Amino acid sequence: MIAVVKAKKGVEIKEVPYPQMNPDEVIIQVKYAGICGSDINRYLDNIFLPPGITLGHEFSGVIVEKGDNVRNLEVGDRVTASVAKTCGLCFYCQTGLSPLCDETKRLGLDYNGAFASYVAVPAKLVHILPEGMSFQVGASVEPVAVVCRAIRQVGINGGDTVLVYGPGAIGQYAMQVALASGAGKAIVVGTRDSRLELAKKLGAAHTINVKKENLREKVAEYTDGLMADVVVEASGAPDIVDDVFATVRKGGGVVFAGLPHERSNFDLQAMVRREARIFTSILNDWCDFNQALKLLDYGKVSTEGIITHEFPLEKFEDAVKAVLERKAVKALLKVS
Ligand SMILES: [Zn+2]
Ligand SMILES: [Zn+2]
Repeated sequence: MIAVVKAKKGVEIKEVPYPQMNPDEVIIQVKYAGICGSDINRYLDNIFLPPGITLGHEFSGVIVEKGDNVRNLEVGDRVTASVAKTCGLCFYCQTGLSPLCDETKRLGLDYNGAFASYVAVPAKLVHILPEGMSFQVGASVEPVAVVCRAIRQVGINGGDTVLVYGPGAIGQYAMQVALASGAGKAIVVGTRDSRLELAKKLGAAHTINVKKENLREKVAEYTDGLMADVVVEASGAPDIVDDVFATVRKGGGVVFAGLPHERSNFDLQAMVRREARIFTSILNDWCDFNQALKLLDYGKVSTEGIITHEFPLEKFEDAVKAVLERKAVKALLKVS
């Protein structure tokens, strides 16, 4: 079978052995897999990934084999799966914080991922796709689950104004999950008009292009001078923190959902003076996946305009190019 495997530099697309499965696992024939910003950073060697690991952690497929201990799933089930294998025994696992498990092993990073014809995953990470959900949407559950966790961390009150930085896939999903969670209106901040127009189509009341408009003035204008009740940072840009804190209202909530790859410098005093509630969010757990599946199934979150490109698995590098050139918001690989 074929897979996108980390090489010393970049990746190789090559034949690999069919995966091994233990009695608690299933083997899934991968249908679609989404390319995440983190896959691209691994491809570009901005983040270290050991050579030999198959990439890919956003996917959907069909179960083709199940281990002897697997009771909750059947061969033929249409599924997706979450990313993190956790120990189930440590303080974090036992207290409902499994994404923080010290033994976390991530699909497509610490063990072989889904940019391959087949992938083996523990049955307890698998979710059955609702009837009628396409495999394309099924491959988008993981990034929506990332956002569900971030929104749950910060908490939204009905009617809140939510400001989202970064109109990429994560930001577009964050805005929709915020609205589905009761936000009264959403403002999306970015640098590309096409992405901001997409945000408007998906429900943003206002957008701000920071290349053309004064960010802080515009946020003040759209919030009657109060600034946003909740800010979601989904761009991962390290130099954005001062803006984030300048645009949340005093006592408001901030969640950092983007993962910067450089150090940030920011004005700690300004942050302290705002008495903001500050949260961070990483990965997702079973509950986040469950919520993401429901929001997608009920049409509260749409992938329309977010999934823009589809490439065969072998064309992984073309897919990466489409993302890097900002032509694609989210590119999917059609695997089988
Ligand atoms: Zn991802
Ligand atoms: Zn653990």
